Amino acid sequence: MLASHEIERYRTLLEQQLADALEALETAKATDTGTVKLDQTRVGRLSRMDALQQQAMAQGLRERLLRNRRRLEAALDRVRGGKFGLCCRCGDELDLERLEADPAVPFCADCQDEIEEQRRG
Ligand SMILES: [Zn+2]
Repeated sequence: MLASHEIERYRTLLEQQLADALEALETAKATDTGTVKLDQTRVGRLSRMDALQQQAMAQGLRERLLRNRRRLEAALDRVRGGKFGLCCRCGDELDLERLEADPAVPFCADCQDEIEEQRRG
């Protein structure tokens, strides 16, 4: 099991990452172009294709940021629930290397592999 001071260190890391994620989300929201306007005066020299592409990229970015936020919040929930450092699927302890690389990681390497295999079908 992780020592309590180690869990506290991870909690701090997760809280910092969550703050960064929220800030990035705010930035993404502020720069979001919203619905594509066909009005050339608003689109300027951008073609409609470019505008659509930019919008898709902004949406993709926002989705990634939202996923990241949920992941970090879930990890902080595990800290509060006393389950931090355990795999969400099998309950085994996570490798420290894995936690160091990504404190919000939810699964052990074995479960992660199995989940990815299932996703690939
Ligand atoms: Zn596992």
